[in-house]
Formats: sequence, C-alpha cells, structure tokens
Amino acid sequence: MKPISIALVHHPVLDRQGEIITTAITNLDLHDLARSARTYGVAALYIVHPVAAQRELASRVKAHWVNGTGSRRIPTREAAMALIQVVPALEDVYTAMGGRAQIDVYVTSARSETLPILSYAEGRQRLAASDRSGLVLFGTGWGLTPGVLQEADAFLAPLRGAGVGYNHLSVRAACAIILDRLLGSDA
Ligand code: SAM
Repeated sequence: MKPISIALVHHPVLDRQGEIITTAITNLDLHDLARSARTYGVAALYIVHPVAAQRELASRVKAHWVNGTGSRRIPTREAAMALIQVVPALEDVYTAMGGRAQIDVYVTSARSETLPILSYAEGRQRLAASDRSGLVLFGTGWGLTPGVLQEADAFLAPLRGAGVGYNHLSVRAACAIILDRLLGSDA
C-alpha cells in the first residue's frame, strides 16, 4: 500500500453562513490528529494555514513535543507530533507528496453532497490497490468548501452516527473514526 497522509485544512473552509473563512489552529487538534495518525500508520499530518503567525504557532507546538521538554515529559507523544508538517496551502501538501497527479485525494464531510459517495469498504480497497499515495482532507469550521470537495478524487461517506438526528462530530472524533474504518485492523 502506498503511503497515506492526512491534512487538516484551516483555509479555505466554510463558516456557519457558508462563507469562505480561515479558522484558527487549535492545539487539541494537533495532538489528537497526530496521535490518531501515528496509531494508524499515517505517513504525515499536514496542517494547512495561510497565516504565517499561525504556522509559527503550530511549529512551536511541534518543536516542544519533538525536541523540547514535552518529549521528555511524555516520550510517547514525540512519535505522534513528529508527523506534523505545517504548510501555507493545499497546493504545498500536493507538492510535498510529489505533485497532485501522484495523489488520490479523499474528502470528508458530515453533509451529504451531490458527489458520488465512497463507502469505507470501498475506500479501504481503493487505498490498498492504488498506485498513488492517499491523502484524506479534514476541514475545520463548518467544513470543507464545495470547491475543495469537488476537486477531490473521492468523497468518503459521511459518518452517520446512530441516525438519531444529531450529527456534529468534532474533526478530532471524525478523523479517528474514519482512520479506523480505512486503516484499522479488525483485531
Ligand atoms: N459538520 C460540518 C462538516 O462535517 O463539514 C462541520 C465540520 S466539522 C466541525 C470538521 C470536519 O470534521 C469536517 O470538515 C470533516 O472533515 C469532519 N467531519 C465532521 N463530522 C463528520 C461526519 N459526520 N462525517 C465525516 N466527516 C466529518
């Protein structure tokens, strides 16, 4: 299987009104997504943010846990936080992974879009069989924009919960569930 990476997108994403915004980086997102990424053998966690000061913040958090006192206080966290790669834009993720043509891009959302939906069983098979690296995009705010969703190669089925009429997972929870469905071992 080719390497699989994930990206947490802070721009472009939607706000409650459906406008395109830039969200702030949340420290908890960095830790939780990095720990999930390491747990499921993900090659890299790209943190996408156009604002230099925000990228600097994420880089400092990473350095604290990889080279600083954090790595001594909680040694197991180093291996997770070392997966973090901070970049200005999605295009930089594609470049870092060898170019857009080398990547199978999967997108996620709670909303059922008009896009053809890929089940997690189909996603597992596609990742295993692909000769391209996999990249799963996660949004922030009120989700990935329609443009980002439409540019992807595959739209992973929205997690539906128990169908109780409430579906507002955090990106941290959604990422862990989706990685388990795509990459988890049954054991
Ligand atoms: N509910 C909006 C959505 O899913 O687009 C809000 C975004 S949610 C706070 C942040 C991100 O978590 C989403 O962009 C998506 O990547 C992921 N996510 C949240 N709920 C999800 C669900 N039910 N199914 C799949 N992905 C989900």
